[in-house]
Amino acid sequence: MQISNLLSPAVLVFMGLSVISCGKSEEAKSNLNLEGGQRYIGCSIAEQARINPAILTLLQSASTEFDSYVSCLKSAEFVENKGVNYLDIASSLKSADLVDIHCRDLEPNILGEAPVDIRGTRLSIDRGFISSGTTARLAGTIGHEIMHNRGFRHSEYPFGSPHYPLTVPEQVEACLQTGTPNLPAPNTCIINNKPYKTGEQFRKSLGCIAPGKESITIIKCLSGGVEEASMTVIPNIVCGGPDF
Ligand SMILES: [Zn+2]
Repeated sequence: MQISNLLSPAVLVFMGLSVISCGKSEEAKSNLNLEGGQRYIGCSIAEQARINPAILTLLQSASTEFDSYVSCLKSAEFVENKGVNYLDIASSLKSADLVDIHCRDLEPNILGEAPVDIRGTRLSIDRGFISSGTTARLAGTIGHEIMHNRGFRHSEYPFGSPHYPLTVPEQVEACLQTGTPNLPAPNTCIINNKPYKTGEQFRKSLGCIAPGKESITIIKCLSGGVEEASMTVIPNIVCGGPDF
């Protein structure tokens, strides 16, 4: 993750893989070993001392604070989540059984980086950020990078996209760091994890969710975080027809 949150080159190298490995909650308990389970590479004692509390935050979010962590992710809108629901996204934090943390001097504005979609958990954190970042920010960044390890990315909505804050690593980071998810961009509806502009374009696009139906159901429409419409049926429009 960068301050500007661009995918780093190291992340892009691994972008070809696509298997998601999310931990099931039952087996995750035995796998959960974040506390003392981190392995530091190239980290000074002082750097380890700054990272340890962040690991503890992650451990709590995956165990004693799991319900509130889940609650945050449940209220989050997601894009590019590969069909994985909020609960499995939350549980995937538990599969971080042993975290390899590299302390490195990363490129300017890059806070952390990680390979995407690997079996284990491996990430790098920038030395400058380790010394300056708060525990909450470090925890958020580590969680962000773990989500890259688990296969989530921002390729469809890269940094600079208004929907980038709704990608899984960003939402996990927000929930770990602040306990509150990022909101959709203004005048945007997130339906089935896809962003739509509010208004006519949104309504027509929505119909394709239910092909062959004679109506469109607006499941939820958020505009700057305010629910604009909910469970609204627009009759006499056939999804997939000429209107679409
Ligand atoms: Zn990222």
